[in-house]
Amino acid sequence: MENEDKQLQKRYPSLDSKFIIDLWIDKLETPIPASCSKLKLEDDCYCYDDMKKRPTIYVNLNGLLTWGEVIDAMISINYHHNCTHKYLEGFREGKHKRLYPIWGS
Ligand SMILES: [Zn+2]
Repeated sequence: MENEDKQLQKRYPSLDSKFIIDLWIDKLETPIPASCSKLKLEDDCYCYDDMKKRPTIYVNLNGLLTWGEVIDAMISINYHHNCTHKYLEGFREGKHKRLYPIWGS
């Protein structure tokens, strides 16, 4: 597992502690559904009951093919996940053909 962590650090050197990628490295090649045009990032879990929610962010997925590339896009907009659910476990297709991150704690 440590080796996997090192590979992830090498793949995403600027990630720092904005969020934690809790994925096996081969999962980064998972294709995103062709029908999804935008990634939706919102503060929608129970952690935010007493905190100010940030505006929802939509990231255009034009030209992006894999989970790994979506993570690159999240890093490029300096996305921080501000709650205890910091562990990015994957992505899923949700309502209105949006792609949603799956967060764990
Ligand atoms: Zn949370």
